[in-house]
Formats: sequence, C-alpha cells, structure tokens
Amino acid sequence: MPRPCCCRRVAGPPHCAMFKPAGIPASSLEEVVLHLDELEAIRLVDLEGLYQKAAAEKMGVSRQTLGRIVEAARKKVAEALIQGKVLRIDGGVVQMPETRKFKCTDCQHAWELPFGTGRPVGCPECKSRNIHREAACARTGAGRGRCVRSGR
Ligand SMILES: [Zn+2]
Repeated sequence: MPRPCCCRRVAGPPHCAMFKPAGIPASSLEEVVLHLDELEAIRLVDLEGLYQKAAAEKMGVSRQTLGRIVEAARKKVAEALIQGKVLRIDGGVVQMPETRKFKCTDCQHAWELPFGTGRPVGCPECKSRNIHREAACARTGAGRGRCVRSGR
C-alpha cells in the first residue's frame, strides 16, 4: 500500500520556536536550525521514551531514516548547548495537522477545530459530553494535513 504522503508526520507545531543563551544578543550568536521532523523525533524517542521502531511508525518513515533524524537532532541540540548557539526550530519536510478532529460517541457526529482553540466541552449536535479526539492523520490518508516545506 502506498504511503498517503511523502512527508514526515509530526504531532503539532512546537511550543517554542527559538532558544538562545541568556544575556547575549542573538545577532552576535551563531545559529543552529533544528527541523520540525528532528524535533518530533527526539520528542518521541528521548522525551516519550519510544523505541525507534515505534517512533518511525508514528512519523511514517523507516527505522533507518528515523535513526538518522534522531542522530542529527541530538547533534544539533548538543552543539547549541555546548557551543552556546541559538537553536531555532524551523523547516523540514513535515506534515502537520491543521485541525483537530473530534467525534461524538453518542450520535457519531464528527467535526474539526483549528489548533489553539481549546478542547470542546461537548458535542455541538447533541450536547453530549461523551466525545473523543480522533487521530489527525491516519494511514488511511484521512484528515490530510498541510505540508510544510521550508528551510531545506
Ligand atoms: Zn453528539
């Protein structure tokens, strides 16, 4: 079965797009750019503690590719920390969910909300609170996200 998208899946936009050493103006610092797929890889492997195989499946890449992404990401983070560089999070060939999908368990009504609007309190149709969030990008290709291609 062909993959629905060439892109690497990420869970969402980063909380913070830039980290820099305190007290030094960014203009006088060197910069390391961490791509969104690299950030996602270390989030899954280092923060959530997933095996690389599981992380690779989540991102829709091979385990070998995931290994390379993690390696590159760790090197960049280490470089920024040790050599005092600005770490900017940007770019990468990624597929980002634009909206979150919700579904009502009671009436089966499904709807979407953009990111950053908070979790809905109930179903807009039947007012049931028995709702759940659906995966934004499944292997079936349902709920295709926006493809971001920048910085590469
Ligand atoms: Zn409902």
